[in-house]
Parts: sequence; structure tokens; C-alpha cells
Amino acid sequence: MEKAREYLQEYFGYESFRKGQEQIIEQVLGGINTAGIMPTGGGKSICYQIPALLLPGVTLVISPLISLMKDQVDALEQNGIDATFLNSSISGLESSNRMNDIKQGRYKLVYVAPERLENPAFQQDLFNVEISLVAIDEAHCISQWGHDFRPSYLKIKTLLKNMPSAPTVLALTATATPHVTDDICQSLGISVQHTVSTGFSRDNLFFSVVKEENRSRFLMRYLEKNKNESGIIYAATRKEVDSLYAKLIKAGFNTGRYHAGMNEKERSEQQDQFIRDDVPLMVATSAFGMGIDKSNVRYVIHYQTPKNMESYYQEAGRAGRDGLDSECILLYSPQDMQIQRFLIDQSNPSQEWQSQELKKLNRMKDYCFTEGCLQAFILRYFGEENPEDCGHCENCTDKRGSVDVTTQAQMVLSCMLRMGERFGKTMISQVLTGSRNKKIEEFGFQKLSTYGIINDQTAKDVGDFIDFLTAKQYIEMTGGQFPVLKVTNAGREVLLGEKKVLRKEIKKVSSISADHGLFEELRQLRKELASKENVPPFIIFSDASLKDMAVKLPRTEEEFLEVKGVGIQKFERFGNLFLQGISKYVQAHPELDTNTMITKETVKRTTKPSHLESYRLYQEGKSIKEIGALRGLSSISIENHLLKCAEENLDIKWDEIFLDKEFDLVLETAKQLDSEKLKPLKEALPEHISYFMIKAILVKAGLENERC
Ligand code: ADP
Ligand code: MG
Repeated sequence: MEKAREYLQEYFGYESFRKGQEQIIEQVLGGINTAGIMPTGGGKSICYQIPALLLPGVTLVISPLISLMKDQVDALEQNGIDATFLNSSISGLESSNRMNDIKQGRYKLVYVAPERLENPAFQQDLFNVEISLVAIDEAHCISQWGHDFRPSYLKIKTLLKNMPSAPTVLALTATATPHVTDDICQSLGISVQHTVSTGFSRDNLFFSVVKEENRSRFLMRYLEKNKNESGIIYAATRKEVDSLYAKLIKAGFNTGRYHAGMNEKERSEQQDQFIRDDVPLMVATSAFGMGIDKSNVRYVIHYQTPKNMESYYQEAGRAGRDGLDSECILLYSPQDMQIQRFLIDQSNPSQEWQSQELKKLNRMKDYCFTEGCLQAFILRYFGEENPEDCGHCENCTDKRGSVDVTTQAQMVLSCMLRMGERFGKTMISQVLTGSRNKKIEEFGFQKLSTYGIINDQTAKDVGDFIDFLTAKQYIEMTGGQFPVLKVTNAGREVLLGEKKVLRKEIKKVSSISADHGLFEELRQLRKELASKENVPPFIIFSDASLKDMAVKLPRTEEEFLEVKGVGIQKFERFGNLFLQGISKYVQAHPELDTNTMITKETVKRTTKPSHLESYRLYQEGKSIKEIGALRGLSSISIENHLLKCAEENLDIKWDEIFLDKEFDLVLETAKQLDSEKLKPLKEALPEHISYFMIKAILVKAGLENERC
């Protein structure tokens, strides 16, 4: 595991493992078939990527998300890891070229689409490759009870059985109810006790449900406040997406659009613009997102209520993969429930299926109405017992005051009774606001005592108020596509004066993250680099890395390596550019510099320079790892400290770092390559020669040259 930790820092730039990762990796390295259940953004990929680096041969990754594979492979290559993918997006010739390279051992990781496993020639090819690990991403697809069952996943079982290299199996998913987990284990030969589940909670997501106010107005207020952030708005139908899109464009928001009614080219253009941060906002049906791994989505808004919690949590979960605070907002409207019920009624004739779907829909509605913690509700739904309150969702934090609206509610309800409870929202609002609509006269409603009783409001406002009463369940909707409104028993109590109706004050909307000038600048720099490299910006550095830079303000290479998500390869490729950007910004903002200078200077005055402090511990006989742990620094930093000491002519025990023959080999290779660049050297040398060894050898050789 020592090595695994080293690789985490070296390739991915992370200090420590997240919950679950270590246990999963340990099991996998020990050859134990394992199921890992971690929430979206929990860090499942590293659970197979690090073993892939440590195990002999190839790790095969089966993933249904074709559009994601290229990004995943690009991200690995940016980190200095050799990977490729095989799916329908590449030509037959390219496929066979890649297959040859795979057989030659050129790649550590190979991503494949499940459909490919059905091809016998492909299976035969695979049997000739040394495959140590098969990772099955989105493993819930194997279960017919899961929400996106993929028949090809059933083929995995036979494939595994026939593989001569008898690989270890790792199944990963974010959405598995206990039932689905059982299915996964059964199908893939995993013992239940080898399931590692970290639960479903996502601490950086802030959930809320907006149900007491007009959703379109809320949306506009929200978007205005969060203009620079990236977000997704989900709407239920293509038509709804189109109309919302038009509305947002008209209001001046830079928006993209995505649904299955658009052609392939349009869709992929829109998706690319979103992923590349050219367009921050995307309005889409649920068709959008399966293949999206964009890590800096700051909010997901559901303009309509989805049909079940599974869909909701999966879609909402696309926010905040990078671990930064993000919002998930559901805009509830009673009509949506009505429409969903109608769709269930119309679709599948099986009674059993219908009642199952209705049950799920009702749970969705319960979510909208629960007064308890929203995150806890979700966790309970997915089978967690006694989850704790999250402390930051709307229900956990809401301190808004309420207004007594009982009188107006009584006006509406009594008007409905007088109209015979046979009409919908529009007609009722028109009567209440005294409209001169012909239909009203036909029915003689202008003679009712409630006609025009709310004449200081528009019919639309009164319509919103009726929605509010429906959401509060004083009114119920009956009938199919054109619902008729009826007064419920709770509504009757209001009419009799036995119950008060309180309406919360309008929800305050605030920006998700505070503006930070340097962060914006770094974002710009990242974007330029990303276009040059032709990859999405978040693959260069995540938002979390940029924020960490804006806080730490690194000035030296060594400090830059301390930034979250900066591994060796990224450091070498982008370190200087970002250091320059930061330094330029700090110069233009002297107030920042003095602040950090003060803290840095004070630290310096009271303590030894950092590398000498490490050296003191080194002289006491402590190992690099121990020094790192004592000082709260990464091993890489300590290694750099020691090399700096060596350059200052302090004694270093070289023989503990490398052997004489390794010294000769590295220098010989550097001569052949005519380069002292670390990455090409590392690649040309045997695997066991680490970056630290190479660096140390180059430093020692440099010192010897000086002496000559
Ligand atoms: P999942 O597949 O579980 O949704 P990913 O594997 O895509 O999640 O990881 C989500 C994000 O978390 C990525 O940006 C990844 O680099 C980051 N991450 C993973 N492991 C760690 C870790 N140990 N420390 C910090 N960040 C991590
Ligand atoms: Mg994943």
C-alpha cells in the first residue's frame, strides 16, 4: 500500500485517500473480487487506476459511457498514464491498431464499451492479453432492477469465466439499492462481505425544494446571481426544454440546449461547448448527462419534478464532482405530478409495473414535502439506516419568516366550491380576479359573491397562489391532462377557520461561491491551455485545484507541488505557467502579497527554513515518510527538501536512495536520450526506478561535475 500512496501523490497529486479508496485498493491488490459503492464524485476511478499501475499487464475497464471514454483517457494521459479506449466511435482499422498495441503491452488501462464484449473475435483477442483486473464501472447496469439496465452487461459474467488470466473483478457504482447490490455480487462472483460501501451522502451538495413561489421567476433570480457559474437545468420534455431555452436566451443568458429531438451533430456541439466552459448553462432533458463528467458543475436545477428518486439523485449528483460546494434545487409544481401520473397511466400496460412506478412517484412527492433533512431522506430511500441530518440543506437551515395568508386562501377555496369544483386553475383565477371572459358569463359566475374578490392581483398571481395551495395540499388535482381542482379535507378545515395557512417569505437567492479575481484569471489561463491541448478545461486542473492555488498563492515549484491535484506530470507541464500567472496577479495586487508575505515572513523568522527543518529530522534518522507525517507535508516535498540540502552541500545518504549501478544506468540513459527531462527518462528506465531516484542521481551527478 506504500506504493499506492506514493502513486496517489506522484500521478494524481493528492495527499491522502478518500473514504473507501484505500480498502478497495488493498482488496484488489490482494486479488479479492470487490464491489465498491461510493457516491458520484467520491473518487471511484482511482480505485482501479492505481491498481492498474501496480499490477502486471492490463486493466480492462468496462463502461457504458462512450462519450466519456475519450475524456477519461485524456485525463489519464495528462497525468502521465498510458491508456486507450475501444468503442464504436473509432474505425475498424484504428481498433485493430490499438488492439495490437494492447497486445504489445503499450497500455496500462483499456476502456471498452460493453457491447464490444459480445463480439467473439474481440473476446478471442482479449484472451491473448494479460489482464490482471477487470473494472466494471456503473455496475448497476448489470441488474434488471437498476434504473438503466444494459443487456450487454450480462455478457461480462461469461467473459470473466473464460478469461485465461483469471483477473480480479472490481464492480463500481454510485446508485445501488440493497437489491441491486445483491444482483451485482451474484452476477460477478463477489462475496457480499467484500462489498465496500461509503454510503451515498454528498457533503458538498446543498439540497432544496422550491414549492411556494413561481418557478420561472425564481429561476431568473437565481441565474442572475450565479451568472459565471456552470449549471444544468433539467426539464421534463423536449418542448419544455425548447421553450425554456428561448426564454433564457431572450433574457440574455449564455445557454446551451440538449434533447433527443436534436440531431447528433447539434447535440455534440452543444455538449462540447458546455464541457469546454464556453457556455456555462445547459437546459436539457434527462437525455443529457449520462456521459458528462464535467467536474465543475456548480448547480443542478430541476425545472420539473422527476419521476423517481433514482433519477433525481443521479441527475442532481452531477453537481460538485470536484468536491466544492454546489446546489441541487428542485422546483416543485403540482401539475408535474399530474403529468407524471398521466404518463405512467399511458405507458406500460402491466398493472404491477404501474403500481411500482406510482409508488416511486409518491416517494418523490414525499421528498418535496418532507420537513426533515432532505439529504437524510435521500439516504433513507437508498437503504441507509438512521442517517444523520446534513445540517446544510434547506430544511436544516431555513430561518425564513412566514406570512399568514388564511383569508386569501378562504376566498379561493370558497370560490371553488361555489363554482361546483368542476374547473381548472385558469378559470378559477379569472373568476376571482373579475375577468370579463365570455365563458364566465355563460356559466353565470359573474353573479357569485367571490367574483372579482381579489381584484388587486393579476390572474397569473392568483394562479401561482392556487399552485401554492395545491402544493400545500389544501387543493387536489383530479383528472388527466386537463385537471379539475377540488378542495381537500384540509382545505375544508381552512374554510371553517380551523386551520391557518402560512406562506414562507420569498426565498433569498445568493451566489454559490464568492468572486475571487485570481481564481477567474487562473480559469482563463486554464481555458487557453485547454483549447491548445484540445481537452476540456477541468482535465488540465479541477476548480478545486485552482481554488487551492488562489488560497495558497504558491511562489516556488516546491510550493506548487503542495497544491491539491498537482502530480509530477502536470507540475512539469503547467507548473511554470501557473506560477507566472499567480506571480503576475500578486504583483498587481500588492495587498495580497503583503498579507501572505507577513504570514510567510513570520513563519520564517520564528522557524528554520523549511528544508533545513526536514534535514534536522533526517539527521535524527527518520525516514522520508515519517518526516512527511510529522510535518504534515507530502513525501515529494520532503524529497525535494533533501535534494535542496544536497545542493547546499549538506550530507545525504545517497546509498539509501540508489545503487551504483542504478546511478550509471540513469546517467547513461540521459546521455542516450540527450535530455535530463524527467518524464522521458522515467519512461525509458525500468519501472522500479522512481522519479525521486532519477532526481537524486541527477543532483549527485551535478555536484560531482561542479567538483571536477
Ligand atoms: P466517481 O467516479 O466516483 O464519480 P471520480 O473518480 O470521477 O468520481 O472522482 C471525482 C473527483 O475526485 C475527481 O476530480 C478526482 O480527481 C477527485 N479525487 C479522487 N480521489 C481523490 C483523493 N484521494 N483526494 C482528492 N481528490 C480526489
Ligand atoms: Mg466515475
